[in-house]
Amino acid sequence: MTDLSPAQLDDVSPEDVGPHDDEPHQSGLNNRLNWLRAGVLGANDGIVSTAGLVMGVAGATTDRTAILVAGVAGLVAGALSMGAGEYVSVSTQSDSEQALLDKERRELVEEPQEELEELAGLYVEKGLTPELALEVARQLTAHDALAAHAETELGIDPDDITNPWNAALASTVSFTLGALLPLLTITLFAAGVRVPVTVVAVGFALALTGWASARFGYGPAKAAVVRNVLGGLFAMGVTYLIGALLGAQV
Ligand SMILES: [Zn+2]
Repeated sequence: MTDLSPAQLDDVSPEDVGPHDDEPHQSGLNNRLNWLRAGVLGANDGIVSTAGLVMGVAGATTDRTAILVAGVAGLVAGALSMGAGEYVSVSTQSDSEQALLDKERRELVEEPQEELEELAGLYVEKGLTPELALEVARQLTAHDALAAHAETELGIDPDDITNPWNAALASTVSFTLGALLPLLTITLFAAGVRVPVTVVAVGFALALTGWASARFGYGPAKAAVVRNVLGGLFAMGVTYLIGALLGAQV
């Protein structure tokens, strides 16, 4: 894994131990939790934006076809936009992670001793004595130098870099699932009850997504539920009012 010979490894003394300050030290990301959180946020987005859209149209007209067309267009546009946005942002992140790993790989070849000192310095920061830190760094370097540097220095697991296509698909699907709820309630129920039924269904769904996102973030659930439900109700109220005003004009 490393070009460092046993003699070179022994050549580094505890006094040499220390961080190299020209590289960022990012904290690690908890991947699985991020996926769940992204899914809940995508669904939440789908619920709120589609509910706002169909309520706006329902405020202007009772024509089911008009509401359906607007809702479907909003669902498709929103899902694709979420997917494209996620693809771009995850691609950018994985590009930058790959670039950092490439740099690390190069440094391990070009200046293995400095890299060993740097790695040991990070263990000193974590609380080991320089002697022990150096021993730990030597053994980890002998085992898998790149993995040790990626994890300790960059907070990256080289085997676990998010695929942008997976991320794009996940947010497209979660947005679509969320968007289907207000779309179905507003188009399946009769004109007299479609608005109140949608408000109630969306309120419950947003309570659920608010609760779930608070659980994933270990935050207080009650405040998150209240904020999320009120935000969604506000969005629906505003678009319904605008739809009603415009509908009365035309
Ligand atoms: Zn390094």
